[in-house]
Amino acid sequence: MHELSIADAVLQIALTHAQDRRIEAIEIKVGHLRQVVPDALEFAFALVAEGTEAAGAELILEEVPAAGVCRMCGSESELPGFPLACEACGSLDVELIRGEELLVDALTMEGAPSGRSR
Ligand SMILES: [Zn+2]
Repeated sequence: MHELSIADAVLQIALTHAQDRRIEAIEIKVGHLRQVVPDALEFAFALVAEGTEAAGAELILEEVPAAGVCRMCGSESELPGFPLACEACGSLDVELIRGEELLVDALTMEGAPSGRSR
């Protein structure tokens, strides 16, 4: 399952940042071309997060629309889906500039950051 590997990647990033604090919510940005099914990702995340500091954390997904720059005419297009074609000239020779990202944008952790100095 595609979502399981994504969920695991998100979990690893979140745990690295959390440093043993409990995670309450994770905001992620997912490019449209990743074709992630939000429900499937939430389900997969609940599975991989079990027993970790992120167990029960809420996943907040933001989908990033795909976009590209045409190598033929140079115009920038939103790319709603496959095939990835230039809106201006119809060329399929388009360089992707957005749509494949998978980023952990923000983490919400239990309690405010403690007063310890960094
Ligand atoms: Zn073009």
